[in-house]
Amino acid sequence: MVMPTELAEDQRAHVARYARGALVAADALGRVPTPLEDVTAALKLASPQDLFDLGDVPPGLARRLRRLAAKVVGAFAVRERVIYLDHTQHPSQRRFTHGHELGHCGLLWHDDAYYCDDPSDIDPDTHAELEAEANAFSAELLFNLDTFTDRAHATRLGLAKALQLADVFDTSRHAAIRRYVEASPRACALLVLGQFPVFPGGRLSLKVLRGLESASFRARYGPVTSCLPTTLPVDEIPLARDAPTALRGQAPTPWWPGASARSTAAAARSTCTMRSTPTPTEPSFCCSPGAA
Ligand SMILES: [Zn+2]
Repeated sequence: MVMPTELAEDQRAHVARYARGALVAADALGRVPTPLEDVTAALKLASPQDLFDLGDVPPGLARRLRRLAAKVVGAFAVRERVIYLDHTQHPSQRRFTHGHELGHCGLLWHDDAYYCDDPSDIDPDTHAELEAEANAFSAELLFNLDTFTDRAHATRLGLAKALQLADVFDTSRHAAIRRYVEASPRACALLVLGQFPVFPGGRLSLKVLRGLESASFRARYGPVTSCLPTTLPVDEIPLARDAPTALRGQAPTPWWPGASARSTAAAARSTCTMRSTPTPTEPSFCCSPGAA
């Protein structure tokens, strides 16, 4: 499994150009949810096959895929030009994986990198970067370049629009929230807070797990995680107090003993927070495209 890495802005823009090309070739620009089957056909690939149903796959490839199947949710057999997907994934997760594998096909330099007998020969940093590029390609497809951002930011800042558009674009809520912030033309940030309270110095607090901010936020304030302490005392920072209910709407009872109940209005103000669980965790980026 390769952990995702962050891409520089120029890399992201470069990937987006290729995603645009694929969308144009599929006549899918502005069509939502993005018809991935059309993009697949435009890239001259057949419909993805089930990772667990190897049927008449050549024995050598079948062996490799069986080995992968225990660890991955999708694969792109570079030489055979076939995408394999684990169809037991949640549909929105499967779409993300599908877009990711299309990235390994649509980003032309990936062929050279993965066209080897053993993908473990690839330098780990290079591998991580290629995976991140495939993730970025998938996001560009699923959010149809700027279509999501244009719609999402045509209204007041808040998570509600991102969550609503997740259904429209057929993506996970997690991916939609991340895109909402990452591509925002406005200064906004996302904090991922731990689900379980911690008690530094005896004070009920939530731990900051990670943060994400828009470019304009970063330019103005720096990384959001540098703006706050690593744990947020609930009795001092409203953000921490409101976070647990931000995605739950009305919550008539406290979510843990001793916490005060919060109003819907308070929850609605928490536009830049989310829980780390039980909302969907990050998409699993653990595909291994080097089967050959
Ligand atoms: Zn991959």
